Amino acid sequence: MGTMTDIDFTPLKGLKFNCLEGCGFCCSFPAEVRQWEKNFQLILEKDAGAFRKWDDGHPCLDGIYTFKQHNDRGACIFLKENKRCGIYDIRALLCRTFPVKFFFGWRLQLYPSMSCRGFSDDESSDMILLGKEAMAEIPADQINKMLGESKEMYASLPERIANYIPPEILQNKLLEYVDKMTFEPWDISDVSRAEFEAELSSENFIDLPTYLTEGLDWQVFKLEGDFVRRILLNRTGETENIDSIVYSNLSVKPFSSEAVEAISRYLRLIASTDHFIGVVYRKAIEQKADGNQLPDIATSELDKVKELFFLKASLLAEFEKREHVTEKTVEDTIILYDGYLATVPAFGMIL
Ligand code: SF4
Ligand code: SF4
Repeated sequence: MGTMTDIDFTPLKGLKFNCLEGCGFCCSFPAEVRQWEKNFQLILEKDAGAFRKWDDGHPCLDGIYTFKQHNDRGACIFLKENKRCGIYDIRALLCRTFPVKFFFGWRLQLYPSMSCRGFSDDESSDMILLGKEAMAEIPADQINKMLGESKEMYASLPERIANYIPPEILQNKLLEYVDKMTFEPWDISDVSRAEFEAELSSENFIDLPTYLTEGLDWQVFKLEGDFVRRILLNRTGETENIDSIVYSNLSVKPFSSEAVEAISRYLRLIASTDHFIGVVYRKAIEQKADGNQLPDIATSELDKVKELFFLKASLLAEFEKREHVTEKTVEDTIILYDGYLATVPAFGMIL
């Protein structure tokens, strides 16, 4: 097993978690399952058609499957009517470790998926403890193998990027940037707006913005013509339109000072994840950027996160007919936003 300095638990610090009865939201995304998992064969014996092969030809995805879903957009086929797992004792690795996530970059970092509503100050389970339990679920040889590969990837960065800046330094620069960040005026770049619209109008149901309400309903937002529809999604993939807003009326709303503080806390969390730093390196390699430009790429990526967050927070506020974005709206937006962020490709490997 890698030495402890190779493993970073920092983003889990201070978080408490308990899974919510009757939620099942994390089972609404097709969880990845690896062939090397101890339960892989057991699940197949239970249901030979349990998996779909992840088939886009990328060597990193070889041997990776996902659970089949109802109608390609409902929950995992094993989620029961009461939103409990039908194969609980032999469920997959990622089902056991959620909402802890793993990123293999210059080290292995554990971080939280904030798309879950199970975080709360009063709850008793400490996320660092959960992170350690989650680690114990992964075979040591797999951790070593992935960590070895990812470290090799990161060791190649100085050759790929002239005037390379190491990830720790880049991360510190980003955290300083968040501290100085201003939250006005609300001018949104064309890139962010285009990305927001593309996500809202995806034909791929799974890529649409998804949201878990306080009442534990699953919702999806979709842009159709000039309307953004709010759609209820049930376990087996059936949908029902709830209401809609006029898209052209959607403007970025004012944020209360508590709301600004809450988004700044969230941005600090993002900036401290190695996944986000991996996003920056990937961009730099794609753009054949010089390392001198790395801090600029990093801050403009974070600005994009902020802008998309503003847009999503305003969308929620518009549906709730609020003129202001409150701290509560920011907390809700984190649920709506974080699942999307997790899908942004990064230099490194996600387990
Ligand atoms: S999303 Fe969170 S609270 Fe809901 S079932 Fe999954 S782990 Fe539990
Ligand atoms: S196997 Fe169980 S825990 Fe895992 S995604 Fe399916 S229903 Fe959810």
